[in-house]
Amino acid sequence: MEKILGKTKIDDWVAALSDHPQEVGRGCKAAEAATTTHWQVSAPVLEDGIWSYQSGSGSVQLEHSNTTQPPKGFSFPQREVFFSFEQIKGEPPKLTQKLPQATRHAVFGVRPCDGCGAVRMDKVFSDHVADTYYTARRSNVAYVGLACNQPQGINCFCLSVGGSPVSSDGMDVLMTDLGDRYFVAAVTDTGKALMAAGNSVFSEPTAADRKQLQQTHAEAIAQPQRAINNLDAAPAKLKASFDSPLWEELARACIGCGVCTFLCPTCHCFDINDENTSATPIKGNRVRTWDNCQFPDFTMHTSGHNPRESLGSRLRQRVSHKFQYFHENFGMPQCTGCGRCITECSVGIDIVNVVNKVAEHAG
Ligand code: SF4
Ligand code: SF4
Repeated sequence: MEKILGKTKIDDWVAALSDHPQEVGRGCKAAEAATTTHWQVSAPVLEDGIWSYQSGSGSVQLEHSNTTQPPKGFSFPQREVFFSFEQIKGEPPKLTQKLPQATRHAVFGVRPCDGCGAVRMDKVFSDHVADTYYTARRSNVAYVGLACNQPQGINCFCLSVGGSPVSSDGMDVLMTDLGDRYFVAAVTDTGKALMAAGNSVFSEPTAADRKQLQQTHAEAIAQPQRAINNLDAAPAKLKASFDSPLWEELARACIGCGVCTFLCPTCHCFDINDENTSATPIKGNRVRTWDNCQFPDFTMHTSGHNPRESLGSRLRQRVSHKFQYFHENFGMPQCTGCGRCITECSVGIDIVNVVNKVAEHAG
């Protein structure tokens, strides 16, 4: 399904989605209890110089730079309760599972690097073993993407990691800005349902619209970007460089803040803890929170031994996971070239430079 949407009509589409009952979930158990719901629409909002996804913030404007936080939190929140527990003396423990609520989120303005991020997250949490909590949320999240006619910043490098500024990977709908209107293309059945809900706000594309779309996409792909020099060679080069002294040199400035992974659309490490809310009787919650391979104690053993004690070993882990280990497991890099980890690192550690330097050094 392909349509044209006048820019002044986007709020009408959002209103139609919010009023339009949809079947909940794509067959996930968490969603089966409810039968219909409306879409909760989130879109980028600029606040204090930072773009972030917010819902119910009035008129939707899609003239945004990419958000500082990727949209991964819709399916993989920073903190989530798995179940609550209660142990009364002499009685069997009581466990109450806390499945996510079946709210449907339509996330507008997702950039192609983050759509590709969702593809990677789905592989991690759905491919080998389905993660009940992730899949329950993910089944209720739809991405209404926006192609990047221009790179979103000086650190974009999607083209060199197999992506594209006009990629529809991971999207349910892909919109392209044609000046006073958007070209809107459904990518999945969910995308078709989203568009059908706002049917009256769209018009049919003309031959001129299609020609302009092709030209806009071609120009977007031709925009200069930074680049990983030889993606195909990276896994072998990184493998050969495991013991390279370069890692310590490149990581010397790292302060272990973890910003690079928390803002990455594909980083997914987590910790699980029991948080007690009462001592007698024992009550509490089992909670999953994001964790981070750049934290010094990420791999700390109870004995005090830490197999990744040095800064270099932690940077090597982050970079090798992105460009070697993930490739070995899933046949693609785990980096989508969004550039956030470069832009937001306060000490200037730059994953493009790191990969290129290590590869060059490996010969
Ligand atoms: S590389 Fe930069 S952003 Fe990442 S942990 Fe080190 S200092 Fe923080
Ligand atoms: S590693 Fe950096 S550039 Fe690559 S997807 Fe993550 S945040 Fe973006």
